Amino acid sequence: MNIAILGVGTVGSSVIKILQKNKDLISARAGKEIIPVVGTVRDLNKDRGVNIPLTDDIKSVLNRDDIDIYIELMGGVEKPFSIVSEILKKKKPVVTANKAMLAYHRYALQNLAKDTPFGFEASVAGGIPIIKALREGLSANRVEKIVGILNGTSNYILTDMMQNNSNFEDVLKKAQSLGYAEADPTFDVDGIDAAHKLLILSSIAYGVHGDPEDILVKGIRKISNEDIFFAKEFDYTIKLLGISKITDGKAELRVHPALINKDRIIAEVDGVMNAVSINCDALNESMYYGPGAGGDATASAVIADLIDIAKGNKNPMLGYAQNFKKMELIEQKNIQTKYYLRVKVEDRTGVLASITNVMSQNNISIDSFLQKPRNKGEKHTTLYFTTHLSLEANIKRVMGILENFEFVLNRPFMIRIEE
Ligand code: NAP
Repeated sequence: MNIAILGVGTVGSSVIKILQKNKDLISARAGKEIIPVVGTVRDLNKDRGVNIPLTDDIKSVLNRDDIDIYIELMGGVEKPFSIVSEILKKKKPVVTANKAMLAYHRYALQNLAKDTPFGFEASVAGGIPIIKALREGLSANRVEKIVGILNGTSNYILTDMMQNNSNFEDVLKKAQSLGYAEADPTFDVDGIDAAHKLLILSSIAYGVHGDPEDILVKGIRKISNEDIFFAKEFDYTIKLLGISKITDGKAELRVHPALINKDRIIAEVDGVMNAVSINCDALNESMYYGPGAGGDATASAVIADLIDIAKGNKNPMLGYAQNFKKMELIEQKNIQTKYYLRVKVEDRTGVLASITNVMSQNNISIDSFLQKPRNKGEKHTTLYFTTHLSLEANIKRVMGILENFEFVLNRPFMIRIEE
C-alpha cells in the first residue's frame, strides 16, 4: 500500500521513521506492506531526517494514480480542507491529525467521506486511542459526560505553577525552551486547541452542532500565584479542562481552567500528559490516560489508522451509519457551575458588605470566604469567595458591577469549580 505524506514536519517524519523501523510487525498486522513513497513540504532545503523522496509540489502528488492512502499532516484549516476534500472526492482514503480542520469541517468531511475510510485518531489526545474507544468501544452507550485534560502544554504549565509556585510567564518560557510549547502558544494556553478536540469528541458522543467560537473557551494566562495559594488552602488543584455534557436535552461544552478536588483521579494527571474521563449510561465511568502530543505518540495513532484501513475496516467517520439527530448547544449564559472569585480591594469598612450585597441581589449564594491577612504597610487586601451553583449570566453581571466600585482595585477574576 503506497502512502503519500502531505506535511513532513514533527509528526510526518515520525510516521515515516516508525513505518520503516517497525515494517515487519506493521506488515504482519496490516496484511500488507505500508510504504511511504513520497512526502510534501514547503521548504525543500530543510533536513527532515527521512529517506523518501520529498517535493514542494502538492498538485503532482494529488494527481498520482499509485497512491493508496493520503496522510494530511500540514496543519491549518481551509487549505488542508480543500486538499482533503479533493482526495475524498476521488474516493481515496485519508488519515489526518488535524483537529483544527475537523473542528470546523467535521460534518462536511463526513458527508464527503461516506464509504471512503477517513482516520483521525491522532487528532485528539495524540497517542491515546480515545476516538476508537468512544466511537467503537462505547458505542452501546449514551454518553452523559466527557471531562478531559486535552492540552499537554497548558497542563505542563499549570502543574509547574502548582508544584513550584512559579508564575505563568516564567513557566511558559521554560515550556518553550523544552519544546513543550510553540513560539506562538495562543492555541494551547488560550484553550483553543482543547476546544477543537472537545468538539470532535462531542460530535462522536452525541453529534453536536457548532464551531469553536460557539462554545465557552477560557485560557490559563490570568491564573496567578494568588489562585494557586487559594487552591492549595482548600485542597483543590487547577487544571485546564474540556467539559462536555448533556444538560436539559442540550449539549453543554466548555473549556476553561477549573478548580477540582485534589483527590480526583484527573487531578493527578500532571505535566504534559493528557487524560479523558467518559461517563456513559451502561458502562458508567471509564478513563484514558497517556501522552497527548509529540511526534512519535501522534504517529502511533496515525499508523494505527493506516493499519485499520489496510485491513479493510470501514468505520463511519463519526461513528453513525445512519442519520442521527444532532444536539444543539446550550447558550453560554445558561451554563451553571460553582465559582471561585478573587477580588482585590481597599481594606476598609463596608467593602465586604457591599460585595456580598451585590452577590445576593444577583442570586449568587456564597459557599466560603477567605481574606488573607494584609502585609504590614499595605492598604489593600484580596478577598476570595466560592459560590454555590450559579448561573454564568449572573456571575458575569456581578463581576461587571464589582469592577466599577471605586474600592475594587483590579478586575475581579473568576475560576469555575468542577466537583
Ligand atoms: P509541523 O512540524 O509544522 O509540520 C507541518 C509540515 O507541513 C511541514 O513539513 C510543512 O512544511 C508542511 N506544510 C505546512 N503547510 C504547507 C503547505 N501549505 N504546503 C505544503 N506543505 C506544507 O506540524 P506537526 O507538529 O507535524 O503537526 C502536523 C499536524 O498534526 C497538525 O495538524 C497538528 O495540529 C497535528 N498534531 C500535531 C501534534 C504534535 O505533537 N506535533 C499532535 C497532535 C496533532 P515546511 O516545514 O517546509 O514549512
